[in-house]
Amino acid sequence: MARTAAPRLYPGACHCGALEFTFETALSPQRWPVLACQCGFCRSHGAATTADPRGEVRFTYAYPDRLRRYRFALRSTDYFVCRECGCYLGAVMMTGVGAVAAINVNVLRERPRGLAAAKTANGYRSESLEERRAHRRAQWTPVFGPV
Ligand SMILES: [Zn+2]
Repeated sequence: MARTAAPRLYPGACHCGALEFTFETALSPQRWPVLACQCGFCRSHGAATTADPRGEVRFTYAYPDRLRRYRFALRSTDYFVCRECGCYLGAVMMTGVGAVAAINVNVLRERPRGLAAAKTANGYRSESLEERRAHRRAQWTPVFGPV
């Protein structure tokens, strides 16, 4: 896969600024896998998520009490939503060796130039919990620092 010379940081935040993250990846935005998941949660937020298993995500919270960790369906993953402004930042799943995340590209502070078009994703329904956890461990971005 084509990678830029050095990893770059892509900051994101909810609308009110209480909750922030940085997504670090050496992948150029044209190469990001951008998925428009068709589950009810993602459709209701108009979300499009990306991840890089060789990248890093770090979360920082100016107002930690505004972080709502919403769970649904198989309850394997926390969906980070701001209690104040309602933005959906991304999803975080704990594993035995730390957390992995997918971030919502629509809350990046700047839309990356050349960002890949979102592909409709609807393959989750047939997964078992173990299958889902395995694919997220393999495909999502490792989280560094507190979650
Ligand atoms: Zn907010």
